[in-house]
Amino acid sequence: MFRPFASASLLALVSTAALADEDVTHFRVFVGDHAAAEVTAFDLAAPENRWRFATTGQAKLFAVAGGAVVVAVQSDADVVHFLHSGITMDSHGDHSDIKVSAPTAFDTVLTGPRPFHLVDHDGKVVINHDKGGYADVLDGAALAKGQVAPVKFPQGQPHHGFVTPLGNVWLSTVAQPAPADGSPALPRPGVQAFTAAGVPAGDLAICAGVHGEAFSGDYLAAGCKEGVLTVKARPDGPDYRMLPYPADLPAGVTTGTLLGSAAMQVFLGNHGPDALVVIDPAEAPAFRRIALPFRRVDFVLDPAQPAQGFVLTEDGSLHRIDLLGARITASARATGAYSMDGHWNDPRPRLAMAGAEVLVTDPAAGLVRRIATADLAEVGTVAVGGTPYNLTVVGGSGLDH
Ligand code: ZN
Ligand code: ZN
Repeated sequence: MFRPFASASLLALVSTAALADEDVTHFRVFVGDHAAAEVTAFDLAAPENRWRFATTGQAKLFAVAGGAVVVAVQSDADVVHFLHSGITMDSHGDHSDIKVSAPTAFDTVLTGPRPFHLVDHDGKVVINHDKGGYADVLDGAALAKGQVAPVKFPQGQPHHGFVTPLGNVWLSTVAQPAPADGSPALPRPGVQAFTAAGVPAGDLAICAGVHGEAFSGDYLAAGCKEGVLTVKARPDGPDYRMLPYPADLPAGVTTGTLLGSAAMQVFLGNHGPDALVVIDPAEAPAFRRIALPFRRVDFVLDPAQPAQGFVLTEDGSLHRIDLLGARITASARATGAYSMDGHWNDPRPRLAMAGAEVLVTDPAAGLVRRIATADLAEVGTVAVGGTPYNLTVVGGSGLDH
């Protein structure tokens, strides 16, 4: 019988690879379009490996379950889609095993009134439904197996907030009922501990207008009008500590977006539109401010170099931040200018990390730009087409054996 030569040689290659201990670095990028209801995935080192997934609306993308699953939260379309990223990293202690296959969409989707903030903590993926008055709690390990079995966490009043497991309780933002006379809704007063069934398990911790949650080390942090609230899990319940904005920072300026380092105990937050703050939850000084030359478009922490982060400002410059020194160490032009005037959801660049590169979506150019962290030089671009907007990256380095 005729046997195609190509198949035979491919078979030989595969069996050779299977015998060797192969060192593999593989990053896969998922990009949501601003206008079209679709997500594009491509391999960073071989962008011709490309997949497109239809969504219902514009998606914000989150890599969860150790990067095995990508969640596409579509706030305006009341739906959440899930993708198997096709890359799994299995830690063996001294090294990780990496397995690479094609990404695939889950058959099951999650629907609910205005899904928004997503928290991935302690093996749980929790999605707040801002107009539903509840959060959906998903198990990360089950998600990695393709199972979507949400458990509802009830909240008193529907609001733009978050829910997270914290030690032996659940922490949720709390909102007040809208005034009956039609006057504007009151600010969210704070956070509170609950049982999994939503029964209060502690008093309200004041954090006016609470927004922007992140984890680092032992701490959860969230932005408030009066400062940044830190929360630590203890056997007898959460330990709350308000870090008030110091008097030497510009008055009336607040933090509403926070990132937490996975490798050292530190947070990077915004401080108004044109500054960042490095926040140490345990040691003084709690706040160190970094003034930016223009308003910030997006910022990220570098998991490969925990003492550094990157911020893109509206003039199109990318700045490298030294968290230990709380200063900008390098700046270079990365994109054209993107004014922060206008709507918060206008198409502007978003940042994500992939090893020694910062990836920057450039919606006006239809590109993802690859910028080296070492010198902020552009090492390449990937044409995505359309209006590339939100993105997330999965993968890393491991052994294939
Ligand atoms: Zn191994
Ligand atoms: Zn928000």
